[in-house]
Amino acid sequence: MADGAVAAGDVEAGDVVAGDSGPVSAASAWREARNVAARARLARVLPAVFPAPVLRHALSRPLVPPTPRLAVESYWRTHVLRADHLARTLAARSGPPEGWTWRLGGVPAEAPEGLALSFRAPPSPYREAAHARGRGACCVCGQPVYRFGWHRDLWGAGSPNRNASWHAACVAAWKLWNAPADHVKLLKKRQRHRCAQSGKRLLRTAEVDHRVPLYRVWREHRAAPWPVLLGYWGLPNLQVVNRTIHADKCAAEAGERASARRQITGEPG
Ligand SMILES: [Zn+2]
Repeated sequence: MADGAVAAGDVEAGDVVAGDSGPVSAASAWREARNVAARARLARVLPAVFPAPVLRHALSRPLVPPTPRLAVESYWRTHVLRADHLARTLAARSGPPEGWTWRLGGVPAEAPEGLALSFRAPPSPYREAAHARGRGACCVCGQPVYRFGWHRDLWGAGSPNRNASWHAACVAAWKLWNAPADHVKLLKKRQRHRCAQSGKRLLRTAEVDHRVPLYRVWREHRAAPWPVLLGYWGLPNLQVVNRTIHADKCAAEAGERASARRQITGEPG
């Protein structure tokens, strides 16, 4: 099981596998031997029906994922922007649960189960105990989960996988929503390495920013329909900007928040 314990994501996409003509280092020989075993194992356990793009992706990895489940996870981890779009599309299919509104947990010890304590966390009604749809439904989007965490019943099972409680795509999206800075490379590439505010070339120190800051989402847009809300954490609201511009934007936002607080509390401005 030594080979099975290595996930494809442990290797950066940019890693280079030594070509046949080059000197074969111990590392590349190890990797090749490991990939032969991984491909054999994957071929042995792969069902007759399997998403073709996921298989293509798996076989082209520097470290081939040895199981269908790992192949699916690796696929969405790499195509995280696609995952973001899919997760929000699936959420739109579910819509918000009856009677749900976006609330925060308040005091941690007294917060109802599943309620986020901060407006920085994406609202997730199906993670709240009161609205959870149970096993076989994705706690991020609310839709049924099938084999390998897939979102469609490609296998004609007729019912969801009761052992699953999230889609592999939704997990990837959730990670993006909660830590977009981890994906700065991908987001930079999408902007063709241009600062979203100044249009200048993005520097190495460029940072990920929410166009509409999350405190304003909570303050001004919290009544928006739930799937629309998720867009504020996803790609539609993410941009990469150079650090100095980001610092200026954050300072302006902090000033704006302070002045809003003064208005509420009646403190002299
Ligand atoms: Zn989902």
